Amino acid sequence: MRKEKQQMEMRLTRHFTLGQLVRCGCAITNGIDNLPSAEQTERLRLLCENVLEPLWSRFGAIRVVSGYRCRRLDACYDGLGRHDHGMGEAADLHISSMEVGWKMFCYIRDRLDFDELYFENLKANGCCWLHVSYTSRRDNRRHAEEPEGCRSVNSW
Ligand SMILES: [Zn+2]
Repeated sequence: MRKEKQQMEMRLTRHFTLGQLVRCGCAITNGIDNLPSAEQTERLRLLCENVLEPLWSRFGAIRVVSGYRCRRLDACYDGLGRHDHGMGEAADLHISSMEVGWKMFCYIRDRLDFDELYFENLKANGCCWLHVSYTSRRDNRRHAEEPEGCRSVNSW
């Protein structure tokens, strides 16, 4: 238990600990130990270094809703489960409004290296998640899915 706590507090990059990339409400509710391997941890670090840290520098504190997801945990995210979370290569970021989300989307799309980028889990109150992934196993595809209706707020 103590070892696990130390692991969670391990700093991946300046602003991100491993805990921020593996803890989520769903794992706690379902009592799932969501612990990545050393290899998956290294992939999470690269995701932080190449995507999340630049985002933090530009937008300030960002909140990761879900990063690494072991197979059992991924099953809880039915319909949203994608392979890249299981690899430790993806994070879902909490977006408080589409206006902010769109700015982040454009920033990542235009300035960073990434594999996939899209919005998901859009709620009626305008909150949603921005899914972004980064891989080191091959060239990143830089595939950004622009949601309908978001172009209208592209005026910054
Ligand atoms: Zn996701």
